[in-house]
Amino acid sequence: PVVTRFAPSPTGFLHIGGARTALFNWLFARGRGGKFLLRIEDTDRARSTPEATEAILKGLTWLGLDWDGDPVSQFARADRHAEVAHQMLASGHAYKCFATQDEIAAFREQAKAEGRSTLYQSPWRDADPASHPDAPYVVRLKAPREGATVIADRVQGDVTIANDQLDDMVLLRSDGTPTYMLAVVVDDHDMGVTHVIRGDDHLNNAARQMQIYAAMGWDVPVWAHIPLIHGPDGKKLSKRHGALGVEEYRDMGYPAAGMRNYLARLGWSHGDDEFFTDAQAQDWFGLEGIGRSPARFDFKKLENLSGQHIAAMEDAALLRELQAFLAATGQPALTERQRTGLAAAMPLLKGGVKTLPQLIEKANFVLADRPIVPDEKAAKALNDVSRGILAELTPHLQSASWERDALEAAVKQVAEAHETNLGKLAGPLRAALAGRSVSPSVFDMMLVIGREETLTRLADAQG
Ligand code: GLU
Repeated sequence: PVVTRFAPSPTGFLHIGGARTALFNWLFARGRGGKFLLRIEDTDRARSTPEATEAILKGLTWLGLDWDGDPVSQFARADRHAEVAHQMLASGHAYKCFATQDEIAAFREQAKAEGRSTLYQSPWRDADPASHPDAPYVVRLKAPREGATVIADRVQGDVTIANDQLDDMVLLRSDGTPTYMLAVVVDDHDMGVTHVIRGDDHLNNAARQMQIYAAMGWDVPVWAHIPLIHGPDGKKLSKRHGALGVEEYRDMGYPAAGMRNYLARLGWSHGDDEFFTDAQAQDWFGLEGIGRSPARFDFKKLENLSGQHIAAMEDAALLRELQAFLAATGQPALTERQRTGLAAAMPLLKGGVKTLPQLIEKANFVLADRPIVPDEKAAKALNDVSRGILAELTPHLQSASWERDALEAAVKQVAEAHETNLGKLAGPLRAALAGRSVSPSVFDMMLVIGREETLTRLADAQG
């Protein structure tokens, strides 16, 4: 069975790159009936904060990336990491190194002066334990010096690193705490991780980690190191390209489904498919579809997919998404009247908008309180002439049967009497009914709000 994991360091918010890594692991596991685990790599006590852990969990939850079981704290497993280091000591795959910082610095200086590799070679590697002093020590891996370590990476291909390029890494520090490299391997092994999908900034770590797997005789997971995300200009994604935190995208009103779809396409492809559902993504996702060159963040594409997902969403689900958006961004919750109005209008609202705020704007005709106060742009459509036409229209709407054809005919008749066209009348009607220049069609709005409300708003607009 497939087991993947997401292993963020809790030093900040959930970054768009981290979210993409989490998504790939989630898709891979979910599409194979596997497990997706979460491990918080909180061993760096100075930089890890509970707030960051909270923000990461919140970001994942918003994105809909559910994990199996409880999040694992790496720090809490320090004893287990030390235990494994001692097993390696006992089996001869690791050794105690008593070298002081000064001795190591001196070694490097001399190596440099002699033009040799400055990778530290400890004299304690082959020392007789009987000669060990009673002094502080670190535990180092007795790494192979000959040959090469080959990372059979499913994205990068075979990556070969000569073993003489890797020193005897420290596993346990002199205070007995495990190093990051040891912790990751022990945790991945103990958690039963079968596939490690992560940023290619960890590719070199994989070689070192493989040496630990080999020393313990453990199965190495399948590696997939994915290229980092770049900005539209091809440079590594950074703050100057725009928002980096997942929550910023939530706050801009991209629905989580659209964000998942977009992030899935960021570095992974399935033929020409751009828009897809979660079920399709889970079905299709595989390591072979991951590209070798960095994907570029494309805001236009995100907007388009976001709009398509809003349009495709079930009305009830979209309403829930909207309510969650309002709550997350600290806006007032919907009143009962607004909720009912939105639910009724949803089929009219969800096409042609790219974000939730755009949908809210378009929904003003069911959200706004009476009297409808037109915004600046809509107000331009209301003048003496157009108010006069609205007044003339009123008796027609009082008597028309409340159906699209009849309403259209009534408006058309008044328009023709003024030798103007329907389109010209739509502006003032929109302003009166919605207070906005963007809204569903005036006839759709009339049908949703009904005769009485329509007439009241027309009366209000005539002031
Ligand atoms: N904690 C590491 C990071 O945040 C990830 C380590 C891993 O995936 O092996 O980049």
